[in-house]
Amino acid sequence: MTWEYKHEPFTDFSDHNEQTAFKEALALVKKELGKEYPIVVGGKKIFTDDKITSENPANHSEVVGYVSKASRDHAEQAHEAAQEAFKSWKTWKAEERAAILFRAAGIIRKRKHEFSAYLVYEAGKPWKEADADTAEGIDFLEYYGRQMLELKDGVKINSREFIEHNTYNYIPLGVGVTISPWNFAFAIMAGTTVAPVVAGNTVLLKPASTTPVIAYKFMEVLEEAGLPAGVVNFIPGSGSEIGDYLVDHPKTAFVNFTGSKEVGVRIYERAAKVHPGQKWFKRVAIEMGGKDTIIVDSDSNIDIAVQSIVQSAFGFSGQKCSACSRAVIHEDVYDEVLEKVVAETEKLTVGNPVDQANYMGPVNDQAAFDKVKQYFEIGSSEGRLMTGGTADNSEGYFLRPTVFADVAPNARLMQEEIFGPVVAFSKAKDFDELLEIANNTEYGLTGAVISNNRRHLERARHEFHVGNLYFNRTCTGAIVGYQPFGGFNMSGTDSKAGGPDYLTLFMQPKTVSDAH
Ligand code: NAP
Ligand code: MG
Repeated sequence: MTWEYKHEPFTDFSDHNEQTAFKEALALVKKELGKEYPIVVGGKKIFTDDKITSENPANHSEVVGYVSKASRDHAEQAHEAAQEAFKSWKTWKAEERAAILFRAAGIIRKRKHEFSAYLVYEAGKPWKEADADTAEGIDFLEYYGRQMLELKDGVKINSREFIEHNTYNYIPLGVGVTISPWNFAFAIMAGTTVAPVVAGNTVLLKPASTTPVIAYKFMEVLEEAGLPAGVVNFIPGSGSEIGDYLVDHPKTAFVNFTGSKEVGVRIYERAAKVHPGQKWFKRVAIEMGGKDTIIVDSDSNIDIAVQSIVQSAFGFSGQKCSACSRAVIHEDVYDEVLEKVVAETEKLTVGNPVDQANYMGPVNDQAAFDKVKQYFEIGSSEGRLMTGGTADNSEGYFLRPTVFADVAPNARLMQEEIFGPVVAFSKAKDFDELLEIANNTEYGLTGAVISNNRRHLERARHEFHVGNLYFNRTCTGAIVGYQPFGGFNMSGTDSKAGGPDYLTLFMQPKTVSDAH
């Protein structure tokens, strides 16, 4: 028996010892920068000529690593290796599979700051954000390991006395493809890989092209923890080059995707097509973007409102699917909340996140930088620029946190996912209108209500249509096993990562009736 699941505590960076330890980890990882990394197919490490250059988004002159790129041929070899490995992996006992996840969690916990340091360099995460990403990865390992132990004997069903014994058990699906995003380059990559694996499937892991090094470090941990060759195959490469191939493959049983709406919709459609030689319907778990709203009621704690908006909008430069990009405020408190949010935003420091003093680091890459700048222009025509709106990519992809006021609920700024440090303010006349605006996008991922009015909170519980709803706090920062995470509508298939139903997405139940 293992201990009861508890989430990994966050590091207290006000503690001088932790600061020193984290600086040491940063120095250690700095020495590792610029290395070459292989793909991993059936346990074999293959260095290819074609490489992905993983750059530090905070410093153009720093290369985090050169990661071998998988071609279609490699993807096919990896698929075959995963099919072969599935034959024996599916026969492992649940306890044996879970034990590998627990061991992997232990290895990472001991080297926690090292993993976080990679996230600082490769994803441009400030210390606190990097620490939370690593902690969440550990949580997924610990939580899904335990969930598998819960499910290992199936679910009790009825048997007919003197006639038959019936059992209901979960079996794995086969070979799946995990396609992960760069914004939780460790946690989501690891979680969406190990969940199907602990359920008895084998996986082809295609990490985001901007963050493949941290994914390789995770592959090393899985190997050290005793995961057999071929159970997870590491095939970084261009999404558009090998993505379609893997999704279309007739031997692919499921696709576990987290990323943009555009790619998610494409995968959903392609996976529905049955190809020659295919013997099953593919399962898909698709988690996509959000246009997340914090609504502030007339009767509310203004300080909580201000803090929640600022943290949710600008933590990790707004590059969270859960980030607050819409603040919808009751007209009675609109001016006060706006003014205080602007004042707090102006205090935020932006710069290279190796320096603990910087609250916000860069955005992910040139494309993200250009996209946000475009929204600065759109925002200037749709609303009033209150602060920010400036950008500098001479050293890294830095943007000032930006607030636009008086934006109409249907404006592009209020409807389109920006994925950067931009928040738009809209005014509402009463609670009905606050809710109406909150629900007026095609997404449905997260949201928060800041209110002292219990009737209003209870109304929001039923009427604010998002997968993760928060009262009187931020709309970001879901914790594995505490706040299972996933969205409605065009935010995805609501798979609720870190929740009690998640593993069953990658399993099929089998009923056996044993007559007497
Ligand atoms: P993205 O551009 O869609 O990329 C996600 C992954 O898909 C990457 O590995 C990418 O590879 C791959 N990909 C690209 N084209 C593909 C294709 N045709 N077929 C198969 N795979 C393909 O998203 P992102 O920019 O990395 O991440 C940001 C997005 O993720 C935001 O929209 C955010 O809201 C969303 N997100 C959602 C959640 C959630 O839980 N709902 C969590 C985190 C992020 P390349 O890197 O090689 O292009
Ligand atoms: Mg991308």
